[in-house]
Amino acid sequence: MANDVANDIVEEHSLSSLLLAWFTLEKRDLPWRRTGDPYAIWVSEVMLQQTQVKTVIPYYEQFLQRFPSVVQLATASLEDVLTVWSGLGYYSRARRMWEGARYMCDQRGGKMPQDYDSLLLVPGIGKYTAGAIASIAFGQRVAAIDGNVLRVVSRLLAWPEPVETVRSHRHFGELLGKWQPAVQPGDFNQALMELGAMICTPKNPDCGGCPLAFVCEGYLQDDVFLYPVKKPKSQRQVVTRLTFVLRRGDQVYLQKRPSHGLLADLWEFPGVELSQGNDLKESILNISGDNGFGFFQKTVSERMFDELVREQFERGITLHGPVWYTFSHRRWKIIWAIFDFPDLDNPRNLPELLERPESKPEGVSAPRESVGEYRLDSRKDHQLEDHCWVTLQDLTGLPLPVAFTAIVDDLKTSEE
Ligand code: SF4
Repeated sequence: MANDVANDIVEEHSLSSLLLAWFTLEKRDLPWRRTGDPYAIWVSEVMLQQTQVKTVIPYYEQFLQRFPSVVQLATASLEDVLTVWSGLGYYSRARRMWEGARYMCDQRGGKMPQDYDSLLLVPGIGKYTAGAIASIAFGQRVAAIDGNVLRVVSRLLAWPEPVETVRSHRHFGELLGKWQPAVQPGDFNQALMELGAMICTPKNPDCGGCPLAFVCEGYLQDDVFLYPVKKPKSQRQVVTRLTFVLRRGDQVYLQKRPSHGLLADLWEFPGVELSQGNDLKESILNISGDNGFGFFQKTVSERMFDELVREQFERGITLHGPVWYTFSHRRWKIIWAIFDFPDLDNPRNLPELLERPESKPEGVSAPRESVGEYRLDSRKDHQLEDHCWVTLQDLTGLPLPVAFTAIVDDLKTSEE
Protein backbone atom coordinates (compact mmCIF):
# COMPACT_ATOMS: atom_id res chain seq x y z
CA MET A 1 0.00 0.00 0.00
CA ALA A 2 2.68 2.50 1.08
CA ASN A 3 4.77 1.47 -1.95
CA ASP A 4 1.86 2.23 -4.29
CA VAL A 5 1.46 5.61 -2.70
CA ALA A 6 5.15 6.32 -3.16
CA ASN A 7 5.04 5.39 -6.83
CA ASP A 8 1.92 7.49 -7.36
CA ILE A 9 3.65 10.44 -5.79
CA VAL A 10 6.61 10.08 -8.16
CA GLU A 11 4.62 9.34 -11.28
CA GLU A 12 1.70 11.72 -10.98
CA HIS A 13 3.27 14.74 -9.39
CA SER A 14 6.64 16.21 -9.23
CA LEU A 15 7.13 16.15 -5.51
CA SER A 16 10.57 17.70 -5.74
CA SER A 17 9.34 20.63 -7.87
CA LEU A 18 6.56 21.39 -5.41
CA LEU A 19 8.90 21.15 -2.51
CA LEU A 20 11.70 23.20 -4.05
CA ALA A 21 9.29 25.94 -5.16
CA TRP A 22 7.97 26.17 -1.61
CA PHE A 23 11.50 26.15 -0.15
CA THR A 24 12.67 28.93 -2.44
CA LEU A 25 9.87 31.17 -1.22
CA GLU A 26 9.62 30.20 2.43
CA LYS A 27 13.04 29.10 3.68
CA ARG A 28 14.43 30.83 6.71
CA ASP A 29 17.53 32.93 6.27
CA LEU A 30 20.00 31.03 8.45
CA PRO A 31 23.74 31.67 8.64
CA TRP A 32 24.72 28.20 7.40
CA ARG A 33 22.52 28.66 4.35
CA ARG A 34 24.68 31.55 3.21
CA THR A 35 27.78 29.44 2.77
CA GLY A 36 29.02 26.59 0.62
CA ASP A 37 31.93 25.88 2.97
CA PRO A 38 31.68 22.16 3.84
CA TYR A 39 33.38 22.75 7.19
CA ALA A 40 30.81 25.37 8.23
CA ILE A 41 28.00 23.09 7.05
CA TRP A 42 29.49 20.27 9.08
CA VAL A 43 29.59 22.46 12.20
CA SER A 44 25.96 23.53 11.71
CA GLU A 45 24.72 20.00 11.09
CA VAL A 46 26.39 18.66 14.20
CA MET A 47 25.11 21.52 16.36
CA LEU A 48 21.57 21.19 15.02
CA GLN A 49 21.37 17.57 16.11
CA GLN A 50 19.26 17.69 19.28
CA THR A 51 19.42 21.49 19.60
CA GLN A 52 17.01 24.16 18.38
CA VAL A 53 17.95 26.57 15.61
CA LYS A 54 17.68 29.72 17.72
CA THR A 55 19.97 28.24 20.35
CA VAL A 56 22.48 27.08 17.76
CA ILE A 57 22.95 30.39 15.88
CA PRO A 58 25.17 32.22 18.43
CA TYR A 59 27.17 29.06 19.17
CA TYR A 60 27.69 28.43 15.45
CA GLU A 61 29.02 31.94 14.91
CA GLN A 62 31.24 31.86 17.96
CA PHE A 63 32.59 28.42 17.10
CA LEU A 64 33.52 29.44 13.55
CA GLN A 65 35.11 32.61 14.79
CA ARG A 66 37.26 30.65 17.23
CA PHE A 67 37.91 27.64 14.94
CA PRO A 68 37.41 28.87 11.36
CA SER A 69 38.79 25.79 9.63
CA VAL A 70 39.42 22.07 10.00
CA VAL A 71 43.07 22.77 10.77
CA GLN A 72 42.32 25.29 13.48
CA LEU A 73 39.85 22.92 15.09
CA ALA A 74 42.29 20.01 14.91
CA THR A 75 45.16 21.98 16.46
CA ALA A 76 43.08 23.39 19.33
CA SER A 77 43.04 21.55 22.64
CA LEU A 78 39.97 19.48 23.42
CA GLU A 79 39.58 21.63 26.52
CA ASP A 80 39.26 24.77 24.37
CA VAL A 81 36.75 23.13 22.07
CA LEU A 82 34.61 21.94 24.98
CA THR A 83 34.75 25.40 26.53
CA VAL A 84 33.42 27.07 23.37
CA TRP A 85 30.76 24.36 23.20
CA SER A 86 29.89 24.87 26.85
CA GLY A 87 26.14 25.39 27.32
CA LEU A 88 25.11 23.69 24.09
CA GLY A 89 24.86 20.25 25.73
CA TYR A 90 25.58 16.79 24.34
CA TYR A 91 29.30 17.44 24.58
CA SER A 92 30.24 14.19 22.90
CA ARG A 93 29.33 15.98 19.66
CA ALA A 94 32.15 18.48 20.19
CA ARG A 95 34.64 15.80 21.08
CA ARG A 96 33.73 13.78 17.98
CA MET A 97 34.10 16.85 15.75
CA TRP A 98 37.51 17.50 17.21
CA GLU A 99 38.51 13.87 16.61
CA GLY A 100 37.15 14.10 13.06
CA ALA A 101 39.15 17.25 12.38
CA ARG A 102 42.31 15.57 13.65
CA TYR A 103 41.66 12.64 11.35
CA MET A 104 41.27 15.01 8.40
CA CYS A 105 44.57 16.66 9.26
CA ASP A 106 46.38 13.34 9.67
CA GLN A 107 44.87 11.57 6.67
CA ARG A 108 43.59 14.18 4.25
CA GLY A 109 45.87 17.18 4.48
CA GLY A 110 43.38 19.16 6.57
CA LYS A 111 40.67 19.09 3.89
CA MET A 112 37.11 17.86 4.14
CA PRO A 113 36.42 14.77 2.00
CA GLN A 114 34.23 15.65 -0.96
CA ASP A 115 31.92 12.67 -1.31
CA TYR A 116 29.54 10.65 0.83
CA ASP A 117 31.63 7.48 1.13
CA SER A 118 34.82 9.33 2.08
CA LEU A 119 32.95 11.48 4.57
CA LEU A 120 31.70 8.33 6.27
CA LEU A 121 35.32 7.36 6.99
CA VAL A 122 35.75 10.41 9.23
CA PRO A 123 35.31 9.54 12.92
CA GLY A 124 32.07 11.02 14.19
CA ILE A 125 30.47 11.56 10.77
CA GLY A 126 27.50 9.25 10.33
CA LYS A 127 25.10 8.68 7.47
CA TYR A 128 22.93 11.72 8.13
CA THR A 129 25.80 14.19 8.45
CA ALA A 130 27.66 12.69 5.49
CA GLY A 131 24.48 12.95 3.38
CA ALA A 132 23.87 16.55 4.42
CA ILE A 133 27.46 17.68 3.70
CA ALA A 134 27.77 15.71 0.45
CA SER A 135 24.48 17.00 -0.94
CA ILE A 136 24.59 20.61 0.31
CA ALA A 137 28.29 21.40 -0.14
CA PHE A 138 29.19 19.09 -3.03
CA GLY A 139 25.88 18.63 -4.88
CA GLN A 140 25.91 14.86 -4.52
CA ARG A 141 22.59 13.09 -4.98
CA VAL A 142 22.34 11.35 -1.63
CA ALA A 143 19.70 11.42 1.10
CA ALA A 144 20.05 12.98 4.56
CA ILE A 145 17.47 11.45 6.86
CA ASP A 146 16.94 13.14 10.20
CA GLY A 147 13.95 13.09 12.56
CA ASN A 148 12.11 15.78 10.56
CA VAL A 149 12.51 13.85 7.33
CA LEU A 150 11.35 10.61 8.96
CA ARG A 151 8.21 12.34 10.19
CA VAL A 152 7.38 13.97 6.85
CA VAL A 153 7.96 10.83 4.78
CA SER A 154 6.07 8.58 7.20
CA ARG A 155 3.06 10.90 6.93
CA LEU A 156 3.33 11.21 3.16
CA LEU A 157 3.23 7.43 2.87
CA ALA A 158 1.04 6.70 5.89
CA TRP A 159 3.90 4.33 6.73
CA PRO A 160 2.55 1.73 9.19
CA GLU A 161 5.83 0.54 10.73
CA PRO A 162 8.04 2.09 13.41
CA VAL A 163 10.27 4.64 11.68
CA GLU A 164 13.39 3.86 13.73
CA THR A 165 13.88 0.41 12.23
CA VAL A 166 16.60 -0.41 9.71
CA ARG A 167 13.89 -1.55 7.30
CA SER A 168 12.10 1.82 7.45
CA HIS A 169 15.36 3.74 7.03
CA ARG A 170 16.36 1.63 4.06
CA HIS A 171 12.96 2.01 2.44
CA PHE A 172 12.84 5.76 2.98
CA GLY A 173 16.38 6.08 1.65
CA GLU A 174 15.44 4.28 -1.56
CA LEU A 175 12.37 6.44 -2.06
CA LEU A 176 14.20 9.66 -1.38
CA GLY A 177 16.80 8.54 -3.92
CA LYS A 178 14.00 8.46 -6.51
CA TRP A 179 12.41 11.72 -5.44
CA GLN A 180 15.64 13.69 -5.13
CA PRO A 181 16.44 15.66 -8.30
CA ALA A 182 19.87 15.60 -9.93
CA VAL A 183 19.90 19.39 -9.80
CA GLN A 184 19.85 21.00 -6.35
CA PRO A 185 19.92 17.71 -4.38
CA GLY A 186 21.12 19.61 -1.32
CA ASP A 187 18.21 22.05 -1.52
CA PHE A 188 15.85 19.10 -1.76
CA ASN A 189 17.23 17.64 1.47
CA GLN A 190 17.09 21.00 3.19
CA ALA A 191 13.55 21.60 1.93
CA LEU A 192 12.31 18.33 3.44
CA MET A 193 13.96 19.18 6.74
CA GLU A 194 12.55 22.69 6.64
CA LEU A 195 9.08 21.36 5.90
CA GLY A 196 9.37 19.10 8.93
CA ALA A 197 10.61 21.94 11.12
CA MET A 198 8.13 24.62 9.99
CA ILE A 199 4.99 22.95 8.59
CA CYS A 200 4.86 19.23 9.30
CA THR A 201 5.61 19.67 12.98
CA PRO A 202 5.13 16.83 15.48
CA LYS A 203 2.12 18.20 17.35
CA ASN A 204 0.60 20.88 15.18
CA PRO A 205 1.13 20.25 11.46
CA ASP A 206 -0.19 22.98 9.20
CA CYS A 207 -1.55 20.71 6.47
CA GLY A 208 -3.58 23.60 5.03
CA GLY A 209 -0.35 25.46 4.28
CA CYS A 210 1.61 22.41 3.12
CA PRO A 211 2.76 22.22 -0.51
CA LEU A 212 2.52 18.41 -0.39
CA ALA A 213 -0.95 18.14 1.13
CA PHE A 214 -2.66 16.75 -1.95
CA VAL A 215 -0.18 13.89 -2.29
CA CYS A 216 0.03 13.19 1.43
CA GLU A 217 -1.62 9.89 2.27
CA GLY A 218 -1.66 10.60 6.00
CA TYR A 219 -3.52 13.84 5.39
CA LEU A 220 -5.87 12.36 2.79
CA GLN A 221 -6.78 9.57 5.21
CA ASP A 222 -7.29 12.15 7.95
CA ASP A 223 -4.83 10.16 10.07
CA VAL A 224 -1.85 12.50 10.28
CA PHE A 225 -1.39 11.97 14.00
CA LEU A 226 -0.99 8.21 13.62
CA TYR A 227 2.39 8.91 12.03
CA PRO A 228 5.25 8.53 12.55
CA VAL A 229 4.68 5.17 14.21
CA LYS A 230 7.22 4.78 16.99
CA LYS A 231 8.58 1.88 18.96
CA PRO A 232 7.33 1.85 22.57
CA LYS A 233 9.69 4.02 24.61
CA SER A 234 11.84 2.50 27.28
CA GLN A 235 11.54 4.44 30.51
CA ARG A 236 14.46 6.74 31.36
CA GLN A 237 16.27 5.57 34.44
CA VAL A 238 16.03 8.01 37.36
CA VAL A 239 19.18 8.24 39.48
CA THR A 240 19.67 10.40 42.56
CA ARG A 241 23.05 12.09 42.34
CA LEU A 242 24.65 13.41 45.53
CA THR A 243 26.98 16.26 44.63
CA PHE A 244 29.75 17.63 46.82
CA VAL A 245 30.30 21.37 46.63
CA LEU A 246 33.55 22.34 48.33
CA ARG A 247 34.00 26.04 48.90
CA ARG A 248 36.85 28.00 50.41
CA GLY A 249 36.52 31.76 50.31
CA ASP A 250 35.40 32.69 46.82
CA GLN A 251 36.69 29.47 45.23
CA VAL A 252 34.93 26.20 44.54
CA TYR A 253 36.40 22.80 43.83
CA LEU A 254 35.97 21.03 40.49
CA GLN A 255 37.10 17.69 39.16
CA LYS A 256 37.53 16.52 35.61
CA ARG A 257 35.38 13.60 34.50
CA PRO A 258 36.94 10.56 32.84
CA SER A 259 37.60 10.58 29.08
CA HIS A 260 34.83 8.12 28.38
CA GLY A 261 31.17 7.73 29.24
CA LEU A 262 28.72 10.34 30.42
CA LEU A 263 29.92 13.98 30.15
CA ALA A 264 33.40 12.77 29.19
CA ASP A 265 36.29 15.21 29.85
CA LEU A 266 34.06 17.90 31.29
CA TRP A 267 34.55 19.51 34.67
CA GLU A 268 32.07 18.90 37.44
CA PHE A 269 31.25 19.26 41.08
CA PRO A 270 32.18 15.72 42.06
CA GLY A 271 29.40 13.42 43.13
CA VAL A 272 28.07 9.95 43.39
CA GLU A 273 25.02 8.23 41.95
CA LEU A 274 23.15 6.96 44.98
CA SER A 275 20.21 4.95 43.88
CA GLN A 276 18.19 4.06 40.90
CA GLY A 277 14.77 5.37 41.63
CA ASN A 278 12.87 8.34 42.73
CA ASP A 279 12.83 7.83 46.47
CA LEU A 280 14.61 10.84 47.91
CA LYS A 281 14.01 9.78 51.54
CA GLU A 282 15.79 6.50 50.99
CA SER A 283 18.67 8.32 49.33
CA ILE A 284 19.02 10.76 52.20
CA LEU A 285 19.10 7.96 54.78
CA ASN A 286 21.90 6.48 52.72
CA ILE A 287 24.19 9.46 53.12
CA SER A 288 24.15 10.10 56.84
CA GLY A 289 27.25 9.69 59.02
CA ASP A 290 30.01 7.31 57.95
CA ASN A 291 28.20 6.31 54.79
CA GLY A 292 28.18 9.87 53.52
CA PHE A 293 31.84 10.41 54.40
CA GLY A 294 32.66 7.14 52.62
CA PHE A 295 31.00 8.47 49.49
CA PHE A 296 33.01 11.66 49.79
CA GLN A 297 36.30 9.79 50.09
CA LYS A 298 35.54 7.60 47.11
CA THR A 299 34.44 10.49 44.94
CA VAL A 300 36.58 13.51 45.74
CA SER A 301 40.31 13.49 44.93
CA GLU A 302 41.16 16.38 47.26
CA ARG A 303 42.22 14.92 50.64
CA MET A 304 43.13 18.17 52.37
CA PHE A 305 39.82 18.69 54.11
CA ASP A 306 38.84 15.14 55.04
CA GLU A 307 38.77 15.83 58.75
CA LEU A 308 36.51 18.81 58.39
CA VAL A 309 34.19 16.95 56.05
CA ARG A 310 33.98 13.98 58.38
CA GLU A 311 33.05 16.26 61.28
CA GLN A 312 30.44 17.92 59.16
CA PHE A 313 28.89 14.57 58.25
CA GLU A 314 28.81 13.62 61.94
CA ARG A 315 27.05 16.87 62.83
CA GLY A 316 24.63 16.40 59.96
CA ILE A 317 24.66 18.02 56.54
CA THR A 318 22.13 20.22 54.82
CA LEU A 319 21.02 19.05 51.42
CA HIS A 320 19.98 21.39 48.63
CA GLY A 321 17.86 20.66 45.61
CA PRO A 322 16.67 18.59 43.96
CA VAL A 323 17.06 19.77 40.39
CA TRP A 324 16.60 17.51 37.44
CA TYR A 325 18.89 16.96 34.50
CA THR A 326 17.91 14.71 31.64
CA PHE A 327 20.33 12.74 29.49
CA SER A 328 19.20 10.66 26.56
CA HIS A 329 18.82 7.51 28.66
CA ARG A 330 18.72 8.61 32.25
CA ARG A 331 17.62 11.44 34.52
CA TRP A 332 19.72 12.78 37.34
CA LYS A 333 17.91 14.00 40.37
CA ILE A 334 20.67 16.23 41.70
CA ILE A 335 20.96 17.03 45.39
CA TRP A 336 23.98 18.77 46.80
CA ALA A 337 25.76 19.50 50.07
CA ILE A 338 27.98 22.56 50.49
CA PHE A 339 31.12 22.22 52.59
CA ASP A 340 32.67 25.50 53.62
CA PHE A 341 36.36 25.48 54.46
CA PRO A 342 38.67 28.13 55.80
CA ASP A 343 39.84 30.57 53.17
CA LEU A 344 43.47 29.53 53.15
CA ASP A 345 44.46 32.53 51.11
CA ASN A 346 43.86 34.32 54.35
CA PRO A 347 46.93 33.61 56.54
CA ARG A 348 44.87 33.89 59.71
CA ASN A 349 43.13 30.66 58.81
CA LEU A 350 46.18 28.65 57.91
CA PRO A 351 47.66 27.69 61.32
CA GLU A 352 44.41 26.34 62.69
CA LEU A 353 44.09 23.79 59.93
CA LEU A 354 47.72 22.81 59.82
CA GLU A 355 47.96 22.42 63.57
CA ARG A 356 45.37 19.66 63.65
CA PRO A 357 46.75 16.50 65.32
CA GLU A 358 48.51 14.07 63.03
CA SER A 359 46.56 11.06 64.30
CA LYS A 360 43.43 10.47 62.30
CA PRO A 361 40.55 8.12 62.90
CA GLU A 362 40.94 4.86 61.08
CA GLY A 363 40.07 5.03 57.41
CA VAL A 364 40.66 8.74 57.08
CA SER A 365 43.67 9.88 55.09
CA ALA A 366 45.93 12.63 56.28
CA PRO A 367 46.22 15.78 54.18
CA ARG A 368 48.50 15.12 51.22
CA GLU A 369 50.29 18.45 51.21
CA SER A 370 53.19 19.18 53.50
CA VAL A 371 53.43 22.54 55.20
CA GLY A 372 55.99 23.69 52.70
CA GLU A 373 53.76 22.95 49.74
CA TYR A 374 50.66 24.30 51.26
CA ARG A 375 50.40 27.50 49.31
CA LEU A 376 47.25 28.33 47.55
CA ASP A 377 47.64 29.76 44.15
CA SER A 378 44.65 29.31 41.90
CA ARG A 379 46.82 29.60 38.78
CA LYS A 380 49.00 26.76 40.01
CA ASP A 381 45.94 24.67 40.89
CA HIS A 382 44.55 25.24 37.41
CA GLN A 383 47.49 23.29 36.05
CA LEU A 384 46.41 20.16 37.85
CA GLU A 385 45.19 17.57 35.41
CA ASP A 386 42.08 16.35 37.12
CA HIS A 387 40.98 18.86 39.73
CA CYS A 388 41.18 22.55 40.48
CA TRP A 389 39.91 25.40 42.61
CA VAL A 390 38.32 28.28 40.75
CA THR A 391 36.31 31.36 41.55
CA LEU A 392 32.69 31.44 40.46
CA GLN A 393 33.61 34.12 37.93
CA ASP A 394 36.25 31.87 36.38
CA LEU A 395 33.82 28.99 35.94
CA THR A 396 32.86 30.35 32.54
CA GLY A 397 36.40 29.52 31.37
CA LEU A 398 35.86 25.81 31.98
CA PRO A 399 33.54 23.36 30.24
CA LEU A 400 31.02 22.77 33.02
CA PRO A 401 27.89 20.81 32.08
CA VAL A 402 24.55 22.62 32.15
CA ALA A 403 23.49 20.02 34.73
CA PHE A 404 25.29 22.11 37.36
CA THR A 405 23.90 25.51 36.43
CA ALA A 406 21.39 25.45 39.30
CA ILE A 407 24.20 24.80 41.79
CA VAL A 408 26.27 27.67 40.43
CA ASP A 409 23.23 29.96 40.62
CA ASP A 410 22.62 28.84 44.19
CA LEU A 411 26.25 29.62 45.13
CA LYS A 412 26.11 33.03 43.46
CA THR A 413 22.91 33.89 45.29
CA SER A 414 24.40 32.90 48.63
CA GLU A 415 27.43 35.11 47.84
CA GLU A 416 25.25 38.20 47.37
S1 SF4 B 1 0.03 17.42 4.48
FE1 SF4 B 1 0.28 17.61 6.66
S2 SF4 B 1 0.99 15.62 7.30
FE2 SF4 B 1 1.23 15.69 5.09
S3 SF4 B 1 3.35 16.36 4.79
FE3 SF4 B 1 2.06 18.17 4.76
S4 SF4 B 1 2.05 18.92 6.86
FE4 SF4 B 1 2.81 16.84 6.90
